[in-house]
Amino acid sequence: MSGAGAPDAGRRAEVAANLAEVRARIAAACAAAGRDPGAVTLVAVTKTWPADDVRVLAGLGVLDVGENRDQEAAPKAAACEGLGLRWHFVGRLQTNKARSVASYAHAVHSVDTARLVAALQRGAERAQRRVGALVQVSLDGDTSRGGALPEDVAVLADLVAQASHLDLRGVMAVAPLQADPAEAFARLAEVAAAVRAAHPHASWLSAGMSADLEAAVAAGATHVRVGTALLGRRPPLG
Ligand SMILES: *Cc1c(COP(=O)(O)O)cnc(C)c1O
Repeated sequence: MSGAGAPDAGRRAEVAANLAEVRARIAAACAAAGRDPGAVTLVAVTKTWPADDVRVLAGLGVLDVGENRDQEAAPKAAACEGLGLRWHFVGRLQTNKARSVASYAHAVHSVDTARLVAALQRGAERAQRRVGALVQVSLDGDTSRGGALPEDVAVLADLVAQASHLDLRGVMAVAPLQADPAEAFARLAEVAAAVRAAHPHASWLSAGMSADLEAAVAAGATHVRVGTALLGRRPPLG
């Protein structure tokens, strides 16, 4: 039975096995790249999955959780209060949702406009919190899919760094569809290095999902965002 606080044992075993596999993949990718596996944070992307799955992950030691829609993330974060979780907002964010997201997010990975920086700053100030922010980089030049063009990243990073209630953490990207992720993540690493040269504390590189986490770790990812490989295939939306 999956009553509150007592997630289903079968689900727990399934997620534990998936987690072991994902951790082994990260460790192997780190070994291949000569990197310390402790330098890569696993963010479990729990979108579409219930709060019970978040509790299962927390019980297995995964405290970094990713969501991409405020409508789903806000109630889940409220339901899981007290577990010591860090919520990472990784999806496209409209400015009218920024206030809500700033009230629970530990870090927003998808900052891609000056308007969004301003809205998150207002939300964080109002909530009397500090919120981490990463500039999302568009690697395919199509900003309608989210992300700022590489040439616009420096200005956005400066704006975040100047915001009193935001902490600039680094950059994030999603590999373009139908492209070599290694090549895309190498370009991202260059953008990340430029941001870090101007802002030495902005050390996060958020890249890599279930299908391409090895390529991301090879390119220096500090945060991989993994959903499907941990929790299974998401039920189709709608
Ligand atoms: C859904 C999502 C992920 C996780 O993707 P999987 O392929 O399920 O691992 C990572 N990053 C973002 C931005 C996402 O929306």
